[in-house]
Amino acid sequence: MTPFESAVRSSLEGPHGDRVPVRDDHRATALNHYAGLNWKERVAKREQDRAKGRKVPEPPRISEPGWPKIKDDGTYQMSVDSEAYEVFEGSKNLQPSNIKLGYDLHVAADVSPLGESGFPPLPRGFVLATSSGDKHGALLTMIDSLRRLGVEVGKVAIDRGYSQIDGLGLELSKRRIEQVIKLKADQMGPHGTPVPGTIMIDGDLFVDWMPKDLWDLPNFTIGMSAEEIAALNARYEERVPYAFSPKGQPDWARGVQQYRGPAASGKVTCANRPESLRVTRAVECPSVGQLNRGEAVQPCACSAQPSLGPEDNLDMRQRYLYGTRKWLADYSRRSSVESSNANFTTHFSGLNERKAIRTFLGRRKRQWLACFGIIAVAIRLIHSRYEVAPSEVEEGHPVTSPVPKTPRRDKDGR
Ligand SMILES: [Zn+2]
Repeated sequence: MTPFESAVRSSLEGPHGDRVPVRDDHRATALNHYAGLNWKERVAKREQDRAKGRKVPEPPRISEPGWPKIKDDGTYQMSVDSEAYEVFEGSKNLQPSNIKLGYDLHVAADVSPLGESGFPPLPRGFVLATSSGDKHGALLTMIDSLRRLGVEVGKVAIDRGYSQIDGLGLELSKRRIEQVIKLKADQMGPHGTPVPGTIMIDGDLFVDWMPKDLWDLPNFTIGMSAEEIAALNARYEERVPYAFSPKGQPDWARGVQQYRGPAASGKVTCANRPESLRVTRAVECPSVGQLNRGEAVQPCACSAQPSLGPEDNLDMRQRYLYGTRKWLADYSRRSSVESSNANFTTHFSGLNERKAIRTFLGRRKRQWLACFGIIAVAIRLIHSRYEVAPSEVEEGHPVTSPVPKTPRRDKDGR
């Protein structure tokens, strides 16, 4: 089976509004500050913070007597579902992040091959977790489960809930998986000099004489117009002549990739690489000026072929140069998993709202219900996009030509 490429997200399976006797008005940041502490530890920390004059979140507001209950392990039981925990909901649609009560649903869905569009975002796997604590573990568990079922994942377009975790790059590499991610603000800009004469910026390696105005470029933000995005792509593409390119396949198990300097690939004219002086001149390394002025030619990294290991920003390294049109085309495929999510929460199903799912208590039962819901959505999606029922597809018959269509709603609006 050929590796397919997948997009992954985590989303909340919720809300559990009618089952939450405690209304929780905590701000997300305050709750995060106290997250992971049991009840006694929270009381102690609240006292400590109050003594230090810090702003202290009030205890949950009780809307029914006797709630929240305190479980044997010292954690709050906030609702009649003893396994529903506080889960982190990242900011989306320009809304701030939040803490809700429920489960964390991790989903993997097919994406269109690079350069193509319209492939249905079939859900391939999911993990329903009781909290958003270990996203990293949930993602790897899902990928390993897919493998056991014979689904090879070659690349993942992951959301930022996963990409901010240290060490994920190596775990993915060990599984021969590339990632495409959007960087967070604190990941952007210069990040060290792995090899003399180079600079690591936005997960890419450049010669250190790249013009300084290209070192710190703004990130892509929600709500940018197509023109603004194109203009920003063009800024990032000004970095192309100074960039090292990956040479061959990585050593997946060790997370090591060899790179080729820009003079080696003809993007730069460099006095330390005499043959580059004899062909059509490209962007000139400072060594060319030194040579022309009769000065001593200083060493540079233009022809270097360094290998970068897991400690060299592997968590941020990607196939295509960050911010370029190629990178954007690759990363934009992540929208497939949002479409998939919208299919089973809104268009084809109501995973968040269906009473049949919502009224079950406990992770195990909700996993089964979510599983049935997702399978039903996948069948409807195959039917509507390929005009064939999965049961009519013969074993080994390739389904290669999807018929992109707008999903149709039933007359009852589902
Ligand atoms: Zn040079």
